[in-house]
Amino acid sequence: MILTISQIIGKIGESIEVSFSEQIENTTGYPDVVCFSEPVEVKGTLTNTKKGMLFKAEGKIEAEYLCSRCLETVKIPISFNMNEIFYQAGSIERENEKEAETFCDNQIDFTDIIQRNILANLPMKVVCKEDCKGLCSKCGKNLNEGQCDCNHTEFDPRLESLRTLFNVDEEV
Ligand SMILES: [Zn+2]
Ligand SMILES: [Zn+2]
Repeated sequence: MILTISQIIGKIGESIEVSFSEQIENTTGYPDVVCFSEPVEVKGTLTNTKKGMLFKAEGKIEAEYLCSRCLETVKIPISFNMNEIFYQAGSIERENEKEAETFCDNQIDFTDIIQRNILANLPMKVVCKEDCKGLCSKCGKNLNEGQCDCNHTEFDPRLESLRTLFNVDEEV
């Protein structure tokens, strides 16, 4: 996701189009994402302003998740807007540089900013539908496809241990 910007270097007011599409294969660092089922698509402009290179663009991608209740595959479209200045490295104070987007020579690398925007827009918890019934805790059947024959009225051992804990606390 690197763009050569020699055409607009030194020409304040000039801009170039930014448009690329790239498959993200590595999902390390993207919690719970199984894969990206569509490439990230970015479309916008990069303008040479007095301050730096102003990057204005829209991005979109599609992430594949597993429903947190029934484990079915769920595809989530994600879109985001970017509006950020890339400063020439060395042109601003070093302290500010840590937090700012920078570039050196005649290239801008968009990898970080795109990664950050995808991350900021990923959903926290994914369900295939609001009323997903999930899997039976005993036989594992997907309850969206119908009831199973298990007896669900017995007490849940996890709840029982919580209750015990609670009682202990009360006696102290
Ligand atoms: Zn589900
Ligand atoms: Zn069951």
